[in-house]
Amino acid sequence: MLKKLIPDDYYKTIEDIPYSKLYADGIRLILTDLDNTLISYLENEPTEALFVWKNKIKEMGFEIIVVSNSRKDRVEHFANLLDVPFIKFAKKPLLFGMRKAVKLASREYKKEEIVEIGDQLMTDVFASKRFGVHTILVKAIDKKTEIFPTKINRKLEKFFLTQIERRHPRLYQQHLDQYVVDKDE
Ligand SMILES: [Mg+2]
Repeated sequence: MLKKLIPDDYYKTIEDIPYSKLYADGIRLILTDLDNTLISYLENEPTEALFVWKNKIKEMGFEIIVVSNSRKDRVEHFANLLDVPFIKFAKKPLLFGMRKAVKLASREYKKEEIVEIGDQLMTDVFASKRFGVHTILVKAIDKKTEIFPTKINRKLEKFFLTQIERRHPRLYQQHLDQYVVDKDE
């Protein structure tokens, strides 16, 4: 199970992700988490920077779908403004929402063509590693305003990070070292 909590890559923000490398690697579909990946829990609408980000990666040839665990209408409001399809109440780390998202896509994608981007080990990384897609972890935009279930997940995450460091030191160093440095700053 521990290895399923290790992302393939970590970048501080969605803007730091090398999309041309992903494209060259054959990735075409981006499943992205919403809360603390694209906007903080306090925001409801896409920022100017997010519109720029979306236009850039769409022009590159990627398709984007928002996959959020939130059940609020806010997900719909956000996704409609950004003009991207969405799945709410996705129940990550269960695979149900991700499977549904893939069905929403404009064409059929192979697992090797899909990346999931998210800020949480216990939901995003665990779901996408089990789903068998490329997994990118980003730093949470604003941890202080996280909701209660996420705070619990962060405690679990802390525990599992220690376990990964102990049992898979090389993988930890390669994939999580920088995240651990950045996450509490
Ligand atoms: Mg999140």
